[in-house]
Amino acid sequence: MPNTPIKTLGVAALLCLSACTSGNRSEPAETGIDAIANAAPCARSTAPEAVGMPSEARIFGWIEYFASLGNRRTGTVGGAKAAAYMKCQFESLGLQDVHYETATAMKWEVTRSSLAVAGQAIDSFPIANTFVTRDKPSVFSTGPGGLNTEIVDIGLGTQPEIALKNVKGKIVLFDLKFLVPTLGLAPLIEFFWDPGLTILDPSSLTANPFQTSAASVLQGMVDAGAVGIVGVLADYFDSNKYYNERYHLDITIPGVWVSPKDGQRIRDLMKASATPTANLVMEGSYEPTIGRAVVGALPGKSPDTILVTSHHDAVWNGAVEDGSGAASVLAQAQYFASKPAESRQKTLLFATMDTHWAEYKVHQAFGKKYIIDKKTPYNIVGDVSIEHIGKQGIKDADGKLQIVNQPEYRGIFENLGPTLKLTMINGLIKHDLRRTALLDASPLCGTVGIPTDAFSCAAGIPTASLISGPNYLYDAADTLDKVDRDQLVPVAQFFAELIEAMDATPSALIGVPVPPLSAAASGLP
Ligand SMILES: [Zn+2]
Repeated sequence: MPNTPIKTLGVAALLCLSACTSGNRSEPAETGIDAIANAAPCARSTAPEAVGMPSEARIFGWIEYFASLGNRRTGTVGGAKAAAYMKCQFESLGLQDVHYETATAMKWEVTRSSLAVAGQAIDSFPIANTFVTRDKPSVFSTGPGGLNTEIVDIGLGTQPEIALKNVKGKIVLFDLKFLVPTLGLAPLIEFFWDPGLTILDPSSLTANPFQTSAASVLQGMVDAGAVGIVGVLADYFDSNKYYNERYHLDITIPGVWVSPKDGQRIRDLMKASATPTANLVMEGSYEPTIGRAVVGALPGKSPDTILVTSHHDAVWNGAVEDGSGAASVLAQAQYFASKPAESRQKTLLFATMDTHWAEYKVHQAFGKKYIIDKKTPYNIVGDVSIEHIGKQGIKDADGKLQIVNQPEYRGIFENLGPTLKLTMINGLIKHDLRRTALLDASPLCGTVGIPTDAFSCAAGIPTASLISGPNYLYDAADTLDKVDRDQLVPVAQFFAELIEAMDATPSALIGVPVPPLSAAASGLP
């Protein structure tokens, strides 16, 4: 699925473990945000609704809370409240060893940006993580009047198109392309529960918004000497509130996204002038902050441990991305906390990460400590990751976002053994998780990684990772109405049964054998 390590921790990220986490830089000072995160522990709940498999209303209530926080970007008040809430819920559900794992992450924030072409103001939105050098704190600004220079259209932004134009010292306009439709995953499909044959619908040919041409083309513009970027969201619905991944790029010049309609307007304005000019303004900062994973455990008979994860950070209100995933981790925590420890062969470790949108720094630090270096009591032998329980989004004939009342196509990237694969196939049918495919992660885990937040598979841990890519996932439109409420309990039941089956399976048989990254190959100490 990923042509580059997009939305994945993959091999490259694990290579980065020792260099990219905190260590060389002094920790930021304690702030009011830290005080929010470090609130007093919560008491064990004895409420009836806190026992057994939680109801749809209870799971949705957790999502409502996350979505009420505003954005939950790493280093924000909302982010600290989300971490504190997860920690409180873990404590009230009776998890043990509840604590944070922290790492220094970078907070990228724009305080002012605007675009005008040929003197006409154009609605725009900053391209995330531009105008900075990785891991180097800065205050960035285009200056009082912004950049005022010629704008050139470089089409898709490929190398031949850049070569055709002299972009040095200019602002470049390009079309961003979304790359991977649902059907593009066909080579990885092991099983697909789609009793309505909805895969025959044309929407299965619509590409998701997180695997894009940005990873391949943005650096070329910088290298060719462009001074600013205007990206037209050519495949997007009528919006520019698109908060992109970083794609492991270092884009040192400013950039903004515009909607498809505004892209056409810019091109019309450019045609009216022999030498069209643009004014691009961007100001902001890129500063170190603290990222927090929230961790809690349910001991079993063995230190062999099944990790259950998602992420609680979000760049918008993040109902589907990933309030739904964080709430799904809480659902598993409640279900298993209601069972006696003697019922478990293995230990369960629950963790929600904080830095999906901040270069996965906490994910990486957690992976290094718990999996690579094994510096904890937990011997992780399996990973279950849950993200994005959302309704299908489509772009209608007018370019508007429409929501269809059925699950977005989803996949479970997995490399579990044959018996557990059968458990999943039976579970998909039993709980009617329709429009869900089992996708073979084996060829991906040790190479480019899987396009989810499940960081363990790159380190050789058998993994089952649920993901979907609705078109509103990176947009301000990711609000509570997009959550597929009908699916919250069936998804929880599916994963509870999978975890029970993994618990009953000898650790050595959980996964299809996948060679772990050797220290020599990874460059890790
Ligand atoms: Zn997510």
